[in-house]
Amino acid sequence: MTKTQDIPEILTCPKCKGPLQEIGEAVLSCSVCTLQFPTRAGAVPIYGLYIDENPEDVGRDPDQKWNMDEFEEGYKFTGYHESGAQFDHCLGFPSEVSDFLYKRVKDRLVEMVEPGEGHRILDVGCGAGYFLMLIWDKYQSMGFRPKLAGTDISMYQVSYMTQRMEKEGILDAVATHGNGEYLPYADNSFDLITCSEVIEHVRNPGRALAEMRRVLKPSGTLLLSTPSMQAQKTWSAILSPFAAIVKTLKGYKPDPNATLGGYDVPWYPKDFKQTIETSGLKILDFEYNAIIPHPWHFKFLPTFLVKPTVKFFEIADAIGKPLLNSLALHFVTRVVKA
Ligand SMILES: [Zn+2]
Repeated sequence: MTKTQDIPEILTCPKCKGPLQEIGEAVLSCSVCTLQFPTRAGAVPIYGLYIDENPEDVGRDPDQKWNMDEFEEGYKFTGYHESGAQFDHCLGFPSEVSDFLYKRVKDRLVEMVEPGEGHRILDVGCGAGYFLMLIWDKYQSMGFRPKLAGTDISMYQVSYMTQRMEKEGILDAVATHGNGEYLPYADNSFDLITCSEVIEHVRNPGRALAEMRRVLKPSGTLLLSTPSMQAQKTWSAILSPFAAIVKTLKGYKPDPNATLGGYDVPWYPKDFKQTIETSGLKILDFEYNAIIPHPWHFKFLPTFLVKPTVKFFEIADAIGKPLLNSLALHFVTRVVKA
C-alpha cells in the first residue's frame, strides 16, 4: 500500500477532537485518546474516522432500529450515480417527479449558496458527491476554487465520491467515512456546510446539528433540507381511497426495492425548527417547497398521466403558498450560528 498523503489540517479525532498523527502505513492515531483509524490510500484518500459512542440510542422513532448495515445494503443497491435523478431512477421514481423535486430542493439550496474566495465546504451525508459537484460548479462559474470535504456513513458512497473527485481532477478534496454525530473536523473549519435529505436518517439529529455548528465558521452558513412528515401524512390521507382503487385494478404489488430501507424519520416543521434552534443555530430562511405527493405514489399512476400531473403540481407549487404549506414535501432552510 502506498503511503498516505499529509493529514489535512482540518481533520481531528471524532471522539475527543484531538490532533491526528500517522502511525505506520495507512493508520492514523489520536495524540490525546490514542484511538486508531484506518486510511484508504488513493488519488483522493479516504479517512476512516467513523465512531459511534451510543449504539443503543433509540433515536426519535423507537419503532425503527438504526442500523448501519441496512444503509450499506441500500446503497450497494443504488450503486454509483452522478446525479440525484440517476439515484431516483434506481428507486424506480419517474424522472418528471425527480426533476421537479430536485429543482425545488437541491437547486434551491444551490441558489442560496453565496460563493466567495478561499471557501471550505463540507457536505454531511455526501453520498456519491453529486451535490458537492453542483455547488463546485456554481463556485467555478464565478471564478472560485473552493476546498471540498464530504462525510458519509456509507463506505461505498464515500468511495464513489472519491472516484468522482478523481474524475473531475479535484484531488485536494477531503473524504471521510464518518458519523454526523461525531464529525472528525476541527472547530470553525467551514464557510459552508450542507446537509440535504440526511438529517431524517440521523439517530440523534440534535447532536449532529450541534456538531455542524461546532465546525462551522462564525461567518459560515449551514443549508439543510429534509422531508416533511406532515406533507407525507396529508398526501397519504388524501390519496388513500384512489390508491386503493388503482392498486386493485392494476393488481399492484409493492416493489421490495422501492425504498432504501434504513432509519427514516421525516419531520414536523415545529419539531425541526425547535431542534435547529436548541442546537445553537438561528434560522434565516425556512421554506416549504415541492407541493407534490411523494414519488412512491406515482408508481401506480398510469404513465401517460405522470407528465400532466407533475405540471399541475408545478403550478400549484408556484402559486399555492403559503396556503398549501402542509402539502409541501420538503423543508429547505438557511441557518447560521446563533
Ligand atoms: Zn481522540
